[in-house]
Amino acid sequence: MFTYPGNIHIHTTYSDGTGTVEEIAAHAAAAGLKYIVVTDHETLAGLPEEGLRQGVAVLVGAELNRESHHYLALGLERIIPGNVEDPQEMVDRVRRAGALGFMAHPFETGSPYIDGGKSFPWTRFPKSGFTGLEIWNYSSYWRGRATSIPKTLYWFLFNRKAAVDRPPPEGLALWDDYTNRGLKVTAIGSSDAHATRIRLGPIVVEVFPYRFLFGAINTYLCFRETMSSDFDEAKRQIYEALREGRCYLSFDQLHPGRGFSFAAIDSGSGREAAIMGEEIDWREGLHLAVRSPARRAEIRIVKNGHLACRHSGEELEYPVPAPGVYRAEVYYRPRPGKPRPWLYANPIYIRK
Ligand SMILES: [Zn+2]
Ligand SMILES: [Zn+2]
Repeated sequence: MFTYPGNIHIHTTYSDGTGTVEEIAAHAAAAGLKYIVVTDHETLAGLPEEGLRQGVAVLVGAELNRESHHYLALGLERIIPGNVEDPQEMVDRVRRAGALGFMAHPFETGSPYIDGGKSFPWTRFPKSGFTGLEIWNYSSYWRGRATSIPKTLYWFLFNRKAAVDRPPPEGLALWDDYTNRGLKVTAIGSSDAHATRIRLGPIVVEVFPYRFLFGAINTYLCFRETMSSDFDEAKRQIYEALREGRCYLSFDQLHPGRGFSFAAIDSGSGREAAIMGEEIDWREGLHLAVRSPARRAEIRIVKNGHLACRHSGEELEYPVPAPGVYRAEVYYRPRPGKPRPWLYANPIYIRK
């Protein structure tokens, strides 16, 4: 298994971001990322700049819709209009175009101090046809936490890690609800990077620069072979891993997520039966194996949306008692402090 960290949901100068594609690729390379996905608002203007840049696979999609129901469409060849009134129609159209679709910041709450309190959540959820959803969007989550000026300034200036305490529980519940209904749904983490510049008298402050966000919430892809040096092939591999859910997200500011694994193993033969995102038939003698990249960890198995097991330590082996949708979470245990939400892996679907 080969794992590649990357960052999804990035705005450039083609919409309301402040960096060019080339500049952003350089920041991604400096952060050690292997792929990034640019998603400017309702435009594919960056598409001609897709390619391998400074060792980073740069992919270009778009964020559809303006007023609400933001939808990341990845793999479009030409832009298509959104549809706020009937998001299912937009979801189906993106799918028919052969592209992947992710609901962006579905439960955004906004801040009274930013953009006049505007937020861009989802209220009409599609029944099917989408690839997945963002369960943890760094910038959007920050906005929602900025509800008091002293608290926000303290976090921003002294303790940014403390503000991003967990993914919104409504997003996790929505994800579990879809997978409980039999759908395969890929959860991703994202930055929603803009690197917005604000002028305070003579000084210009960049709020959450690209380089900073590329070390925050990343999505790691799992490949069975190495990433191709041919861009078209690498793009196919990246989109396939996202489509299948062979990925996990990590709040890398707590601890880098590289080295995590989650698989179903046949206990008798010791052979790997499935990894995250894959579907297998139920059989006797299956166990789930989780490995945390940090020793100071608490590993949790969530079955059909409910906590099935928790364990302190670096590794967990969990005998699978019955068919179900099993996903893994890892909490990081800072010293001192309470365990903190850190890694979220896509489910292994164990079918009857
Ligand atoms: Zn958005
Ligand atoms: Zn965005």
